Amino acid sequence: MKFRRHNRQDDQFDDQRRRMIDEQLRGRDITDAGVLAAMRRVPRHLFVSEKRRQDAYRDGPMSIGYGQTISQPYIVASMTQSLSMTKRNRVLEIGTGCGYQAAVLAELAGQVYSVEVVPELTDRARRILKQLGYQNIKMDVRDGYLGWPEEAPFDGIIVTAAAPKMPEPLIEQLKVGGVMVIPLATDSYGRQFLTRFTKERDGLKCETLYEVRFVPMIGEVEE
Ligand code: SAH
Repeated sequence: MKFRRHNRQDDQFDDQRRRMIDEQLRGRDITDAGVLAAMRRVPRHLFVSEKRRQDAYRDGPMSIGYGQTISQPYIVASMTQSLSMTKRNRVLEIGTGCGYQAAVLAELAGQVYSVEVVPELTDRARRILKQLGYQNIKMDVRDGYLGWPEEAPFDGIIVTAAAPKMPEPLIEQLKVGGVMVIPLATDSYGRQFLTRFTKERDGLKCETLYEVRFVPMIGEVEE
């Protein structure tokens, strides 16, 4: 996808985005050239409110309204990298939010499915993603704990809200060989750890990556 550069402000955001890639991503452990190129292309500032655009390329999460956030650039990159998606893959995202992570995934995967419980956020994400020309993102308002069984199975699943327990339906909707990354808040101190599951023929491989802080998953998972 190409974005025309037509004014000074665009140049300025382009500059900020290049710095974000070099300092926050390449400067850490993001080495996947596809992920770096995808995040170089997606105009992150267009996913936040107009008055917050100047902060869009900062090294942290930001509020997007409705008590929700757009994840820190590094976290988006790291989770995307750990999924290793290609254009042959179908990926499911839980927690569309502003749609930024969905756009990054759409640059790499063949087809993206993204679900969200707040309808206003889905509407907003749909508008911006359409405006940017993405045609390989399908969105729906539904409880992500239950996944999207009608579209399963998936090669990758990315959960962007913290779950207090493992959503079993998501494991079922993952292909053998598929990968899921999810922030799990299962320890008794309320800490969250980004966890990667790989579905193998004879079971589930589990790797704990690092501590994170996401908004909690709501809905069925709380019952
Ligand atoms: N992926 C976003 C970040 C989303 S923040 C990004 O690109 O920046 C987490 C989102 O998960 C919120 O929008 C929240 O409303 C949503 N959410 C919480 N519980 C959910 C559930 N059970 N199913 C789907 N979405 C959920």
